[in-house]
Amino acid sequence: MKKRRKTRRLYVGQVPVGGGSPVTVQSMTKTDTRNVAATVQQVKSLADAGCEIIRIAVPDMDAAVALGPICSASPIPVIADIHFDWRLALEAIRQGIAGLRINPGNIGARWKVAELVTSCQERDIPLRIGVNAGSLSKKLTQKYKHPTPEALVESAAEHIDILEKLDFRAIKVSLKASNVPTTVEAYRLFSKSFTYPLHIGISEAGPAFTGTIKSSVGLGIILAEGIGDTMRVSLSADPHEEVRVAYEILKSLGMRTRGPNIISCPTCGRCQIDIRGLATEVEERLKHVNKSLTIAVMGCVVNGPGEAREADIGIAGGAGTGLLFRKGKIVRRLDEKDLLDALMEEIEKK
Ligand code: SF4
Repeated sequence: MKKRRKTRRLYVGQVPVGGGSPVTVQSMTKTDTRNVAATVQQVKSLADAGCEIIRIAVPDMDAAVALGPICSASPIPVIADIHFDWRLALEAIRQGIAGLRINPGNIGARWKVAELVTSCQERDIPLRIGVNAGSLSKKLTQKYKHPTPEALVESAAEHIDILEKLDFRAIKVSLKASNVPTTVEAYRLFSKSFTYPLHIGISEAGPAFTGTIKSSVGLGIILAEGIGDTMRVSLSADPHEEVRVAYEILKSLGMRTRGPNIISCPTCGRCQIDIRGLATEVEERLKHVNKSLTIAVMGCVVNGPGEAREADIGIAGGAGTGLLFRKGKIVRRLDEKDLLDALMEEIEKK
């Protein structure tokens, strides 16, 4: 793991991003923004799941106006996601958002950008430049032919230049592509020249299974190189999955702690109890637990007791039985049928 890259710090509401603060987890609502009740419900539920910043699409003026009651009810800062129309952005700011995602180069006349920048400055609202491989400018597409890492970085540099000329530096940047090597290289390249905090993600990563793998590989590499200040896992799935996957990526690199860390063996011919069923059930039952705990579910005495001993709580299976460990000490020997309940009981005590 490389040391984290030093970036400028900004605040999305009360949440710090960059400058050595923990990598924050974001998601995006998938409701119709104009449906305030449904959107607020999803925001609250995502916040309970650990989402720290929520992004909301603003496709029209009704959606921009709906941000008022949504922001008031939201327990976490709201970022408005807007394309092209600066009037929507101005309305979103009036409605109380904490951050904005809009690409200044796509707004049009400079006076419109200036108006928007002034409005952001007045309310301390940071702006994310979200470069996406799928929407590069005509000029860059002609120059590079494909959405190369260089093209993505040049696009970001153009947008940054517009804001810097207006003396605006509360900037975050993302450089997303659905291609993992392109995305990784773009973030590396950008990091060599700029110190703006980075929002990282693999764009349109796919459904839960493939999207999780692509995001884990891509974001894993980027994070391990010390790059990244805030992240979103994009999945064609329930947004709670995005939050869950993001934390698992961060936990696997030792960058954040949240919820249980479940160690379970893959099982082999030595295993004589249903470890797969047990591990799946433990994971399911602990989905909503925020406390960080290491739980080992191991099949046999070969690696089992060793791992189980290192964990806060663990079980190691035998022939139709299992040992229950707590912090390295055997608590009980149990029949297989009683293992799950005993393990859950121990976890409850914690
Ligand atoms: S802990 Fe035991 S059962 Fe599980 S994979 Fe290792 S040797 Fe096999």
